[in-house]
Order: sequence, then structure tokens, then C-alpha cells
Amino acid sequence: MAPTAKRSTVKTRGQKPSQKAPLVHRSPRTLAEKRRIAAVVLEALQAEYPDAHCELDHTNAFELLCATILSAQCTDVRVNMVTPALFARYPDAASLAAATQEAVEAIVRTTGFFRAKAKNLISMAGALMDRHGGEVPRTIDELVQLAGVGRKTANVILGNAFDINDGIVVDTHVQRLSRRLGLTREADAIAIERALMPLFPRDKWALLSHLLIWHGRRTCDARKPRCGACVVRAVCPSAALEG
Ligand code: SF4
Repeated sequence: MAPTAKRSTVKTRGQKPSQKAPLVHRSPRTLAEKRRIAAVVLEALQAEYPDAHCELDHTNAFELLCATILSAQCTDVRVNMVTPALFARYPDAASLAAATQEAVEAIVRTTGFFRAKAKNLISMAGALMDRHGGEVPRTIDELVQLAGVGRKTANVILGNAFDINDGIVVDTHVQRLSRRLGLTREADAIAIERALMPLFPRDKWALLSHLLIWHGRRTCDARKPRCGACVVRAVCPSAALEG
């Protein structure tokens, strides 16, 4: 899981140049207020990003599982550069389980931590063959038993490959936006996931992650949020400090 984003700091009126104000400067206090903001955010981001989707290229659950394992500490763009070769050579769990470490390393080298990732991919595929008939399981408990798979990855697979909303994917963008929007003060990913669950309809959990990730990449940048161009500015307690 990526580290918590640093708090940006900006000057506010009346402050000396050396004084800084935290980007998150006030937060809604009640559950009702958070729910009101959550509803506005969901509607506005759905309108802004009607095509929001998982940006890891895949055609089935096995491919998405491999791509998500490779995405740790790596951009989706970079992962999408190596997965065509990986999937062409190892199209299923049986072929990947029989692969050599060296051969997989050679394909995934540019995604970083390539030795560990290659090892996890082969081990994950072996477990699919041994315990799941070569198929990707459909529960969090079974998924997190696989090498290289944590709760975040399990939620990605369930939500995107199987349309199962068991949890909410909390990556660095979801962490940052949840806090800036005042939906939680938590820093830990699992605590943030728990805080978000009662605020959004369950059937929107997978979509919510995509929307927040897309907004984080395009507007609510970690270091320079473009609040002036932000469609949720009206309800964001961190707005107007920039832009
Ligand atoms: S107004 Fe928008 S861009 Fe600015 S901090 Fe809030 S969500 Fe991020």
C-alpha cells in the first residue's frame, strides 16, 4: 500500500510568509454531514468521469490479478506495457505455475521489485492450480491467501472482475481525497475503508474508487490540487486554499 500523501501547505491571508496552513483545515463533524458531502461527491464525479474504470488492461480475472500484483509501487501505464507479453506467454494459471523465475523476471523487470513480483506471480498461479481448479476465487478470505495479494488487491479483483462489492479499494489517491473531502481523519487504509463504507451505497463501492482515483490523478493532485477547476469544490472543506 502506498504511503499516506504528505499534507500540502499553502499561505493564507494575514499569515507571514513563513506561516503555513494545513490543506485540510476543517472537517465535517457529523455522519449526516459526511453523507451529504458523499452524495454530492458521488454525483458530481460520476458526471465528470462517466467512463471511469480500472486502468489496468485485462480481459479476465486471471489477467487482472496478475496486473494488480504487478501494480504495487508502479504506475498502471508501466504495468500495461509489460502485461501483453506476460499474458501472451502465460495466458492462464497452469502455464504461469509452470514458468521459471528467470523467464517471468525478464518480462516484469521494469515494474520494480521484479524478483518478488515474479515469485509472487508463479506462487499465486500454483495456488490457483492447487486449491481453486485454476480459477480465481471470489472471496476476500480466499484471495488474500494468495501470494502478493492483500486486501486492496482482493477488492480490485472482486469489484472489477466479478462485480462483487465486498469492500472499497483504498489506494494513495482514495486515501488523500477521503481526508481532503473531510470524509475521514483516518490515515490507515483499512480504517479509511471502514469509514467510507457507511457513506456510500454498496453497489457504488467499486465505481467510487475509480472516481476518486481519476479525480486524484486529474485534479486533486497530491502536491498541487487544482481547486479552482474542481467539480466538488462547493462541498470540499479543503477547497479555496489553492486555485
Ligand atoms: S476542492 Fe477539489 S481539488 Fe481542492 S482539495 Fe477539494 S477535492 Fe481536492
